[in-house]
Amino acid sequence: MTQQGHSHRHYDESMLSVEEALERILSFISVLEPEEKPLLDAIGQVLAEDAVSQYDIPPLDNSAMDGYAIQADSAKGASEETPATLRVIGSVAAGALPKDTVTPGTAVRIMTGAPIPEGADAVVPFEDTDEIERRNSGDRLSEIGIQFEVQKGADIRPAGEDVRKGQLVLEKGVVLRPSEIGVLASLGYREVKVVRRPVIAILATGDELLEPGDEYGAGKIYNSNNYSVASSVLRYGGVPNLLGIARDNLDSMNAKLREGLAADMLITSAGVSKGDYDMVKDVLAQHGKIDFWSVRMRPAKPLAFGVLNAPDGRQVPHLGLPGNPVSAMVAFEQFGRAAIHKMMGKNNLNKPTIKAVLDDPIYNNDGRRVFARAIITKENGTYHARLTGHQSSNLLTSMARANGLAICPEDLPMKDVGEVVDVQMLDWPEDVF
Ligand code: AMP
Ligand code: MG
Repeated sequence: MTQQGHSHRHYDESMLSVEEALERILSFISVLEPEEKPLLDAIGQVLAEDAVSQYDIPPLDNSAMDGYAIQADSAKGASEETPATLRVIGSVAAGALPKDTVTPGTAVRIMTGAPIPEGADAVVPFEDTDEIERRNSGDRLSEIGIQFEVQKGADIRPAGEDVRKGQLVLEKGVVLRPSEIGVLASLGYREVKVVRRPVIAILATGDELLEPGDEYGAGKIYNSNNYSVASSVLRYGGVPNLLGIARDNLDSMNAKLREGLAADMLITSAGVSKGDYDMVKDVLAQHGKIDFWSVRMRPAKPLAFGVLNAPDGRQVPHLGLPGNPVSAMVAFEQFGRAAIHKMMGKNNLNKPTIKAVLDDPIYNNDGRRVFARAIITKENGTYHARLTGHQSSNLLTSMARANGLAICPEDLPMKDVGEVVDVQMLDWPEDVF
């Protein structure tokens, strides 16, 4: 412990800031290789190729309305009382190519999306003609009355208005949302090259753990970490591979770790707090290199990170989360999520963060960054944060009540009621900016 000149509190200088820990972790994480996927299956993944259009979209000048393609000059002086009567020489539907040429005094009946016939320079929607009256009186529509003047180019959508042939439409690195999936479909893509999703092996450790479904035993607890972590992995785009539970002995740990080497990353929980970790350290030393860190945060101060050597020569990053269920989830949000997003090729690794007014104080008694479980509501356009109650890191139901993590910075002794704090929104998967 070192006395800090600028602070009346104490903290261990060997502690890493959240940012330092994250930076070290990310320096061992690389973007995964691309894969070809059916378009629909690629939602949420990152485009691994530039998408260049082979075509103009729309391919031809076409009609924005159902109506009549004419020469604007043919409707000069037209009004409802004195419509311009034009001879209808044909019709054209969407997907067809027009055969007729529009000349002064003629019109071609046209549907939305149909190409503009040669000679025409405007479209008059049905509503601006006397078509209904003519129909009602049994007219075969060999002629049509245009009831308004029209500007050249009216209701014509130009070829290439959306996309030009040869244009770079979506750049490599873009995250595919429904609109990008639609754009790729409009370019004719059936499959698309995207960065593949990381497989994350997930391992719990502890002699006290039962699997959900096992018969309840005195003194035992159900393994919740594997399930909260695996569902977080799913939510953020990874593919979880649950390895179950390693017992607190060398053989069990060794066997499970070997299984984990097939993944892109291994996430374990527990066994990183003082007194516990010597065994884990010994085991991991046989497979690679591991560091135990103290991170300047609450909860989730103890954290392990290392690199394991897979038999195929790959280096598999290993993130060791603390065992307490809230600590495991909060540490996953800070470090695991960013690692997954980096592997997926995403550029924005930040957790979505808003400003909120505190309705409860957050205390910080030992100079760590406090992530307080909070319930965020919007009142009269302002976000408010109240805490879920007791902030002990074993209370998993308090995490279930929270929709945000309200932050008290490490260098402040408290954030009081009425003060504005940053809040990481737990249910907002992407930062909007
Ligand atoms: P440890 O780091 O092994 O000392 O564990 C810290 C605390 O977290 C202990 O109370 C453990 O029982 C608890 N814990 C560890 N692993 C899990 C798990 N997978 N699910 C729920 N609680 C756990
Ligand atoms: Mg344990």
